[in-house]
Parts: sequence; C-alpha cells; structure tokens
Amino acid sequence: LSHRLDGFGESVIRKMTRIANQHGAINLSQGFPDFDPPKALIEELQRVAIEGPHQYAVTWGAQNFREALAKKQEHFMGIKLNPDENIVVTCGSTEAMMTAMMAICDSGDKVAIFSPFYENYVADTVLCGAEPIYIPLKPPTFNFDKEELEVAFKAGAKALILCNPSNPTGKVFTKEELLDIAQLVKAYDAYVITDEVYEHIVFEPYKHHYFASLPGMFERTISCSSLSKTYSITGWRLGYVIAPKVIIDQCKKVHDFLTVGAAAPLQEAATVGLKLEDDYYKELTALYGKKRELFLSGLDSIGLKYFKPEGAYYVMVDIEEFGVSSDYEFAKRLIKEVGVAAVPGSSFFKEPVNQYIRFHFAKKPETLELALERLTQIK
Ligand code: GLN
Repeated sequence: LSHRLDGFGESVIRKMTRIANQHGAINLSQGFPDFDPPKALIEELQRVAIEGPHQYAVTWGAQNFREALAKKQEHFMGIKLNPDENIVVTCGSTEAMMTAMMAICDSGDKVAIFSPFYENYVADTVLCGAEPIYIPLKPPTFNFDKEELEVAFKAGAKALILCNPSNPTGKVFTKEELLDIAQLVKAYDAYVITDEVYEHIVFEPYKHHYFASLPGMFERTISCSSLSKTYSITGWRLGYVIAPKVIIDQCKKVHDFLTVGAAAPLQEAATVGLKLEDDYYKELTALYGKKRELFLSGLDSIGLKYFKPEGAYYVMVDIEEFGVSSDYEFAKRLIKEVGVAAVPGSSFFKEPVNQYIRFHFAKKPETLELALERLTQIK
C-alpha cells in the first residue's frame, strides 16, 4: 500500500459525527445546519428533477452557474471576473482547496498554515507531497505575529492558507492584518490560498475583506469557497476556485482528472441561490447573529469560558478548569453522558493541546436550547 497516507487517521470532525449518531447525541461537532435551504432552491431542485439536466455539465462548471457566480462574487469582492477564465466549480471547497494546492505545489514545497487550523489543510498539504509550516494564532485574540509569519516565508513557504472568517477560532482578519500578509506575500513572491466559506457569516461590527481584492493581490490569490454554508446546502457539495487565468488553467486540469465535474442538476438548481438579492445575505447574517447570541448566553449561564467568535459559526470553549488529560476522551464522555457532541480542540493544533473543545451553532433555536439544557450537567 502507498505510504502517502501514513500517519493519517479518520478526520476527527467526521468521526465525532459518527459517534454522535451512534449515541443519538445532539451534533454540535461537524458544522452543518439542521434547517432547510431557501425555498427557491428546493423548488428549483424539484423542477430540475423533472426537466434536467441529468448528464455531465461542462467540466469546469455549468455555463449559467459560472456566469451567476461571477456576477455575485464581482458584487461582493469588487473585482472583475471572467466566468470562462477565472472560475472552476468543484465538489465542495474541500476539492477546491486540494485542486488549488495541486495546481501550485510540487513535492518538497512548503506551505504555511495558521494554527489552530481546519484539519483538511494539513492533509491537503501532505497529499501534495508538500510540508506544512505552522504559524500560531495566539489566544485570546488569535492574532498572529508578523515576524513569525515572515519566518515561514523566509523558510521558503510557497503559499499561505488563509481561512477567513476562521474555523475553528471565529477570528475575522482585519484589513490591516491582511495588508501585512499581502506585503510579505509580495516580498517573498508567494501565493495565498483562501478558504472563505464563511464569507457571509460575519458579526457586527466586523467586516469580511476578500484577500484577492487587496491591491495587487488578485494575481497571487487562489480564492476557495462554497455554497454550503451560504445557502445551507452542505450535502450538495458545490464549491469553487477563483483565480487568475494561468492558475485556473492548472486547476481545470486537476479538477477534470480528479472528478470530471460537480453534479450538474445541483449546479442548475443552485444557480437561483446565486441570483438572490442582497437582502438574503443580510438576513443570513442576522439569523446567525441570533444563534450566536442564544448559544453564547447559554454558555454564560452555565459558566463556561469561551472565545467570542467574530465570524463563522463555531465557538472554542476553554475546558482547562476540568483538568482533563485527553480532550478526545472528554468529548466522547460529553456525547455518552451529556448527549451533546463537540470536536476535541486538539484536532485543530499540531502540538498536543488538551484545553479546548469546539461547538458549532448552525442549528435551529430549539436544538441549541436543548443542547444548552443538557450542557448544564457538564459541571
Ligand atoms: N467545515 C465543517 C466543520 O469544520 C465540516 C466540513 C466537513 O466535514 N466537510 O465542521
């Protein structure tokens, strides 16, 4: 067997979902909603079921989907996009990121990753034959030290992975921080691969700034995102890469040989989502704002310590007071004895850290209330 996968286990996030299901726990581990996508998408999916398409779309994405996506992203990113040259539609941002990495990295290259990180980034790097270099995001603000980032570029990092808004910390990078990154990226002739799947889930007064939209950065940025979180369709597996033509031409090749294409009927149905008006995104932000308030005030009443998220739909809870030697065992006990699933924080760090668990709050108010009621037994 190949040694490429040596040292890999099952994704901890997906494993917690599996254990949660076995025990019928409320699943606040793997982040996905328990409510429906917008009605317009469901109705369109019904129409597509009857009328099609049911055969392959264009490999790099159905024409109407790419056109609608280019228009929507031009509006939010404030840059001009050519639907034929700057976009590849992928099977989720999971494929988008892997495709981006394979498009630019050779074996032996180095990739800079902020830590804590979403676990796929390390797997993507290693599967490309590249080597991760970690830059700490320091609690409680999860800010980074510019000099530490520069050390990574000095050591030869070809690309930096930038998850913004960040999973699992909920950090939203400020414009100043992004400009600092941009300056280093330019100085060291590197790339940034973004994961911006939570681009529309940012809480007041914070604002999302697209890295590709910063002066001079479009040429150096491979923007990855998806429709999963924005339209509550994580199971549709629709993501995309946005980049300059030279990089997209590479991505098209990887994507073609890897998957041929994302599901054609789902691209067709999701196109109505991409055409929704601005109000939709405002309502989505407001909806998640309420969920955050409900969940965090519940954690306050229980007396749990956490880092307040500025964006995305996760919260890192500090479990130091429980003095556990394994956050994984703690999370397993939480599933079995309390009936609520979280992700052990160690899966987001390179070094052994046993101090955190991550909950997500992309759930109906009644689900969050029931979870909070159960969590009162934690102490
Ligand atoms: N991003 C989600 C999380 O961190 C899950 C994504 C996935 O499992 N594909 O929970």
